[in-house]
Amino acid sequence: MTTVKLMRAIRVAEFGGPSVLKLYSDIPAPSPGQKQNAELHGKSITAPGINSDLCLWSEPSRNLHSVWILCAKASASVYPWIRCFWSYRGCWGWSSVSSATETGGYAEYAVASEDAVHRLPDSLDFCQGAAIGVPYFTAYRALFHKAHAKAGETALIHGASGGVGIAACQLARAFGLKVLGTAGTVEGMELVLKNGAHQAFNHRENDYVSKIKEATNGQGVNVIVEMLSNVNLDNDLQMLSYGGRVTIVGCRGPIEINPRDTMIKESSIIGVALFFATQEETAECAAALFAGMEAGWLRPVVGPKYPLEKASLAHEDIINSPGAAGKMVLMM
Ligand code: NAP
Repeated sequence: MTTVKLMRAIRVAEFGGPSVLKLYSDIPAPSPGQKQNAELHGKSITAPGINSDLCLWSEPSRNLHSVWILCAKASASVYPWIRCFWSYRGCWGWSSVSSATETGGYAEYAVASEDAVHRLPDSLDFCQGAAIGVPYFTAYRALFHKAHAKAGETALIHGASGGVGIAACQLARAFGLKVLGTAGTVEGMELVLKNGAHQAFNHRENDYVSKIKEATNGQGVNVIVEMLSNVNLDNDLQMLSYGGRVTIVGCRGPIEINPRDTMIKESSIIGVALFFATQEETAECAAALFAGMEAGWLRPVVGPKYPLEKASLAHEDIINSPGAAGKMVLMM
């Protein structure tokens, strides 16, 4: 008789606020199939990263077919582009549709395809491993695959103190851009300056837009990586240079803009969705990130850590954060 190993996992069975994230202790642990990483099997995930993917469980308009473990079961049934990123001792990686249809990152065990598991260098701990996946792949995609940022250009990382923002500051600096970053607190601005920004600004100050324009001698910034476009897109169009590009990474609602603002500068607004990255794009990005780990400029900043059972609190806190300070992670 085969015994089924049980694990603790967060599951979501209904739409609603963060309270719909419930802890279960009797979920069958997944087994690896062909081309899935057997080494990972039987090892406990140590630290999944928390992402504010609120739409996954808060929008009743989406068709929730069945109960799922955040968030890969959803990837099988509802959101075919979702992958979850995690780290366990010595490795970091992701589980995706093809490899983890019954499991997710908020769980003690996961399966992943072999090409999605990477060695974590000794210089980084497992919490930092959990902070590589979504933030660095997203930041790379926004800066290079979508905005086509080039050395010598100026990039504004609008919301630079969180997971994606810090990754974008480190990447843009390493690739030769002049980096401006914003945060909402003094501590956040210090963090941004420590992680690659040449200058930091407070996005809660009334006059920070004019300060940023001054910092570019009135020329404007070539690239903006935008974390809260529903608040900032109109201002972003004013801050761009001729031919400037703003990439929409974060958005929590609608905003009114005047499209004429794009005509007079021939500027572009470009959406970013990490999960549309092709295999080639993912491989290129992973190569750049490995180079960054080797050279030492890629150093994920880990923010608050929560035990698995506090996953819903973590999601409350990411929405109501008084000021970001790196990437939130869950601990098993
Ligand atoms: P995070 O760690 O919670 O950081 C949020 C950032 O937004 C902080 O730097 C925060 O600064 C900043 N912010 C708050 N108010 C702002 C304002 N008025 N103007 C500019 N920035 C402001 O989140 P994250 O993991 O970095 O993710 C950022 C966003 O990207 C989220 O909305 C996330 O869902 C989204 N995302 C999208 C993709 C994609 O593929 N498109 C992938 C990953 C993440 P303070 O806290 O210092 O004020």
